[in-house]
Amino acid sequence: MSEEWISDRMHLIDASGIRKVFDLAANMKNPINLSIGQPHFDTPDVIKDALCQAVRDGKNAYSQTQGIAPLIEKIQSRVDTEYHHDDRQVFISSGTSGALMLVLNALINPGDEVIVFDPFFVMYSHLAKVVGGNLVFVETYPNFSIDIEKVRNAITDRTKLILFNSPSNPTGYVASEAETRALAELAAEKNIALVSDEIYRAFCYDQPFVSPAAFNENVIVIDGFSKSHSMTGHRLGFVHGPQSVIQQMIKLQQYTFVCAPHPMQWAGLAALDCDVSDRVEEYRQKRDLMRNRLADKFEISGAQGAFYMFLKTPWGTGTEFCTEAIRNNLLIIPGNVFSSCDTHFRISYAQENSILEQGADILNRLADHKM
Ligand code: PMP
Repeated sequence: MSEEWISDRMHLIDASGIRKVFDLAANMKNPINLSIGQPHFDTPDVIKDALCQAVRDGKNAYSQTQGIAPLIEKIQSRVDTEYHHDDRQVFISSGTSGALMLVLNALINPGDEVIVFDPFFVMYSHLAKVVGGNLVFVETYPNFSIDIEKVRNAITDRTKLILFNSPSNPTGYVASEAETRALAELAAEKNIALVSDEIYRAFCYDQPFVSPAAFNENVIVIDGFSKSHSMTGHRLGFVHGPQSVIQQMIKLQQYTFVCAPHPMQWAGLAALDCDVSDRVEEYRQKRDLMRNRLADKFEISGAQGAFYMFLKTPWGTGTEFCTEAIRNNLLIIPGNVFSSCDTHFRISYAQENSILEQGADILNRLADHKM
């Protein structure tokens, strides 16, 4: 039976969380959809033009594994200007997800502990488990800030890696400079790898973005074009970190992804010169709109960045509340998809304002009527 062929590692993960939500949503007709994890803008035209041009110019074969030289050079020069680290090397990955897969494979031995802040981006827990890591959750409820003493207490002899994400999916929390510095310094003190997922760094509304790499030269930064330039389907990301780690990641990329999609890398080069500040400003206004509309009836923490809010349910579990929302034609995601707790739900405000308004109306109505 083909079922018997499946490796043990595949039984460590399941697709049930999000799938359950989409099963529930399957019968919805024209839902008010606040579940979408990507910008609602299309890719800017200059990027599309660069992509079409690259395809027409025949840039359709493999590129070098580490990426095309002009893109690496441009990112490397920005990284060098920002951090001034002698040993910080850049390569181009197949999305941020591809980079996460590579870094975990490159660093985690079976039984190694991986610290993840809860709530977390769903992929972290699954990927960490698939490579044999043991997850150690550090809770950040109720306001999603990082308590450095909790992190210190979670560290053991087996701790190998900390996965950090600011601005955060699902909470929109942006770590302060003090928190980021404390985490970076703790990782250095304990000689633990700190992986910083900076895919939402362009989307900070109340304070400037700070990377832990500013305080620890061994931080491994993964970043990408998906969110900042609406390029989720292009599968383009990049990584920078200490050469010894980057070399291992490139080695594994050679035997897995081979290279990031070649024409998209030329599109990425155009994206680096594409100003997205008007989009960021638009999302800041959408954040303000939703915060104003929901503040009376919902506890709101985080939401200083990305395009998510992670709200405490006014009644019931996250699953119960979202089930009722779906019955009322509003698609939102229960907190237990992103957390070991089921007390919250996630909304994405990457949507047209008219849809946000309708979503806020339904949420406020639901809050008043315990089902
Ligand atoms: N990290 C986080 C925190 C994300 O939210 C996402 C996308 N939802 C990713 C990584 C993956 O992005 P990419 O398209 O670059 O693989």
